[in-house]
Amino acid sequence: MKALVYHGTKSVSVDKVIDAKIEKPTDVVVKIATTNICGSDLHMYEGRTNVKKGTVLGHENLGRVEEVGKAVDTVKVGDYVCLPFNIGCGFCANCERGLTGFCLTCAEPGSAGAAYGFAGMGPYSGGQAEYLRVPYADFNCLQLPEDVKQKENDYVMLSDIFPTGWHATELAGIQPGDSVVIYGAGPVGLMAGISANIRGASQVMIVDQHPDRLKLAKECGAIAIDDSKGGAVEKVLALTDGLGADCGCEAVGYQCQDHHGHEVPNLTMNNLVKSVKATGGIGVVGVFLPKDPGAADDMAKKGQIAFDFGTFWFKGQKIKTGQANVKAYNRKLRDLITAGKAKPSIIISHELPLDQAPEAYKNFDDRKNGWTKVILKPAA
Ligand SMILES: [Zn+2]
Ligand SMILES: [Zn+2]
Repeated sequence: MKALVYHGTKSVSVDKVIDAKIEKPTDVVVKIATTNICGSDLHMYEGRTNVKKGTVLGHENLGRVEEVGKAVDTVKVGDYVCLPFNIGCGFCANCERGLTGFCLTCAEPGSAGAAYGFAGMGPYSGGQAEYLRVPYADFNCLQLPEDVKQKENDYVMLSDIFPTGWHATELAGIQPGDSVVIYGAGPVGLMAGISANIRGASQVMIVDQHPDRLKLAKECGAIAIDDSKGGAVEKVLALTDGLGADCGCEAVGYQCQDHHGHEVPNLTMNNLVKSVKATGGIGVVGVFLPKDPGAADDMAKKGQIAFDFGTFWFKGQKIKTGQANVKAYNRKLRDLITAGKAKPSIIISHELPLDQAPEAYKNFDDRKNGWTKVILKPAA
């Protein structure tokens, strides 16, 4: 089959690889209909993770079930399913509590959490390919309704960014009527904005530097705060009577840049402490890594940031962090899409065949204006 293979820093190509197949009786094989390129794929593309050369990337996947293992009970050939990017077993201590992003069975020994085509998250191939092997299929497959053909580009966002954006609002503790500031108008930040509005926020502010993303922030029902010349914190304070927002979300991660284009890994975290009110909650879903050997400064190489803990403590704020437990949310978010109450496909800028994935990576990585979210159609 054809698949997008990582060969090294900024080097990917569509190659012939061994077909995805049933390896355990609890697996299914899915023929991929839509698979997205994610911002966290770019961390790997840029050589800023320990992902192995030869890995097939792609953790945001939707497709049609082609083959079913002997022990699979409810998933049938022909079903259209969306796969959470994190792979859970369903029976470990964390999965039992709904924390499927931290599965102990599927993870590498000594760690928690597994995913398709992802650095440090197990041996699983990604879905930027014609076919994908799905472990523990009864647990992991989210069944999609009959309108999947019309809403495929919406439902595929249930694999990661919509639940991850929702998770940011959950971690931040958003209540109806709250004001919310979100750092980052990439796909996850925009989904956090849509989620905050669904949850009844009175005011949603999204901070970014890129005009195409800021335009989308407005289309997602948020106040777009342009940080291309700095000053985001002051703008948020001006909009919140000088107090700061009730809640904040981080959707940028460890490679965040200041308005001069320099990487400053602590920037969004410290800006959140400043622009969220005393006692407010902060949810962090942007990716931070335990080690970043490619970073410019010595602290960042060790996965550390200079965090403004004094102000954080003095303001009595709360922080919650981590990858989204997609299965905790994806059913209900699917139902919002089915009911026409959420349309996450609004952020898609490019829909391309798999063969064009390498140039899509380049353009998305260059933050080329207008490349806000790329989806691939391997079956097209
Ligand atoms: Zn993703
Ligand atoms: Zn588990």
